[in-house]
Amino acid sequence: MQACPLCGSGAVCHIGGMKRIAMTRPPLPKLPLEGGCHCGAVRYSVTAKPRAVNACHCKDCQRLSGAPFGLFLHLAKDGVAISGGARDTFRRIGSSGNGINVERCAVCGTRMWHLPEAAPDLLILCAGTLDDSRWAIPTSHIWIEHAAADAVAAEDALVVESFQTTRPALWARFSEIYPAGADGDAA
Ligand SMILES: [Zn+2]
Ligand SMILES: [Zn+2]
Repeated sequence: MQACPLCGSGAVCHIGGMKRIAMTRPPLPKLPLEGGCHCGAVRYSVTAKPRAVNACHCKDCQRLSGAPFGLFLHLAKDGVAISGGARDTFRRIGSSGNGINVERCAVCGTRMWHLPEAAPDLLILCAGTLDDSRWAIPTSHIWIEHAAADAVAAEDALVVESFQTTRPALWARFSEIYPAGADGDAA
């Protein structure tokens, strides 16, 4: 039985019962990263190296995505070029009490990204909108007390209950997993 790297107590971690799996991560794809909504009206191009691939298992992300968790790239907002059609904005209140603007394609309703009012330089991209999201394996998992019973985390991922961490800590873990030169623009 493989021990949890946090508690050593066996295959099932003591934190929320999230199982750890050994895996070889694909390399970061070469920039820019391209993506868009379901209908194609909204498109974007990412030229900034991602800061995190974060899985949020909170109930809000489950409802917003209709899936067991939300998967997000943390990006410098000025490293995302947006083109195409109109977007609707839904303002939600995060667990911090701060407003977060959720932008969706006005035509097909695809949720594109979250814009936290308290961090105006940040764009939290919904990773499933990438044209190729296969490489985007979480470097961190948060709110895992709400995770589905079959949820798994890579051995090297940061795993916390609630948001018992900070965004810089999520970014630091990403940088440990993908050190400078691991991204496509280093070649
Ligand atoms: Zn659309
Ligand atoms: Zn969430």
